[in-house]
Amino acid sequence: MLGPVILAASRSDKMRRFVSAAPGTKQVVDRFIAGETVGDVIPVVQDAAAKGLEVTLDVVGEDITTREQAAAARDAYLELIDRLKDLGLGTRAEMSVKLSMFGQALEGGHELALANVRPVVEAAAAIGTTVTLDAEDHTTLDSMFAIHEELRRDFPGTGCVIQSYLFRTEDDARRLAASGSRVRLVKGAYKEPASVAFQNKAEIDKAYVRILKILMEGEGYPMIGTHDPRIISIAQELARRAGRKLDEYEFQMLYGIRSDEHLRLAAEGHRMRVYTAFGTDWYGYFMRRLAEKPANLLFFVRSMITK
Ligand code: FAD
Repeated sequence: MLGPVILAASRSDKMRRFVSAAPGTKQVVDRFIAGETVGDVIPVVQDAAAKGLEVTLDVVGEDITTREQAAAARDAYLELIDRLKDLGLGTRAEMSVKLSMFGQALEGGHELALANVRPVVEAAAAIGTTVTLDAEDHTTLDSMFAIHEELRRDFPGTGCVIQSYLFRTEDDARRLAASGSRVRLVKGAYKEPASVAFQNKAEIDKAYVRILKILMEGEGYPMIGTHDPRIISIAQELARRAGRKLDEYEFQMLYGIRSDEHLRLAAEGHRMRVYTAFGTDWYGYFMRRLAEKPANLLFFVRSMITK
C-alpha cells in the first residue's frame, strides 16, 4: 500500500526538499548510496574486488531539465571511467546509466541522449568494460531500446534492462535473447498503470520466472537482478537445465541490500555484480529503495524522530 505513495512522492519537488533537509536522512541514504564523489566510490570498488565481487556503477541522477545538466552527466561518467582506467579497475566495474539523465526527456531528447551516452560507451569499451542502459518508466522504453540497438552496432556488449512487471517484456525478452546480448532482468521499480503492468506481486514474480526462462534458454548473457531468494534458486535451476556454465550468466544486487547474499553467491562460484550508486542527486533512487520495502520507511522515520 505504501509503495505507490512513496513512488508518487519520488517525483515531487516539495517532498524532495523536505526529505533532503530532514534530520537523519543522511544516515539512511548512506545505506544505499556509496558516497558522493568518484573519490568516495573507488575504495568501494576496490573492497568489492578484494571480496571477489564485481560492480556496476551508477552516478545517480535522472529527470534533468537542461542540456547543460545532460552534458554534465556525460562528463561525470567520463571522469569516473578515467579514474577506473588509472587504477586498472576497468575489468571489475561496468557502468549503469539512466538515459533521462542524458537528456532523453528534453526537446530532441532521443538524439541528445544518444549523443551524450555514446562517448561514455566508447570510453568504457576503451578500458575493456561495458555500459548497461537502465530501464526507467514505460514511456521511455521504446527510445531506450532504439538507443540500445544503435549502440550495439558499434559496441555489441552494451546491455539493457527489462522489467517483469510490464506486459510487453516477454516479447522484448524474446527479441533480446540473441547471441552476444547482455540483458538484466528486474521486477521493476516505477509506478506503472494497470494498462501496461501487473500490479500484483505474485503475477510480477511469475512473469519474472517466465522471462528468465526465455533468457536462460536463449543465446545471450542473462543478468539476474533480484534479491528474492526464491527467484535466485529458480535461476540456478534454470541455468542448470539450460546447460549454462557459471560464467554464462550473473547475479546482480543493489549496494546495501542483502550484502551477506552477495558474498554467499560469490563464494559458490557465481559471478556477482553489485549495483553501486553514488553521487549527490540521490533523491529518486533513494525513494525507490524506500518504496520497495516498507521496513526501510519505518527505519527512515525513526531516524528522523531520534535525531
Ligand atoms: P522483492 O520481492 O521486492 O524483494 C525480495 C527481498 O529482497 C525482500 O524481501 C527484501 O529482503 C529484499 N529487498 C528488496 N528490495 C529491498 C530494499 N529496497 N531494501 C531492503 N531490502 C530489500 N528497476 C528498474 O525499474 N529499472 C532498473 O534499471 C533497475 N535496475 C536494477 C539493478 C539491480 C542490480 C537490481 C538488483 C535491481 C534493479 N531495479 C531496477 C530494481 C528492481 O526493479 C526491484 O525494484 C528491486 O530489485 C526489488 O525487487 P526484488 O527482485 O529484489 O524482489
